[in-house]
Amino acid sequence: MVGNRLSPDLPRRACHRCEKTYAPSQSTSALPLTYCGFFCEKGDLGYGMDGLESMRFTLEKNVADGIRKAIEEAESTRSSR
Ligand SMILES: [Zn+2]
Repeated sequence: MVGNRLSPDLPRRACHRCEKTYAPSQSTSALPLTYCGFFCEKGDLGYGMDGLESMRFTLEKNVADGIRKAIEEAESTRSSR
């Protein structure tokens, strides 16, 4: 970006959201190679990587519950026969 006086020794990237040039090593984002900071990550994704992790955990838990329920149903069907 023209007019940006940033030290050239740090690797620079353009933020995916605000297109600001930033140093990934100084980014507060969970995706420092994509966003300049936490707020751009939040703004672009609508949630942080933390939210994504808990979302996946909930999904896995639901699947596990479904499997357990199916096993319990199969076992109760078998024992009632
Ligand atoms: Zn940004």
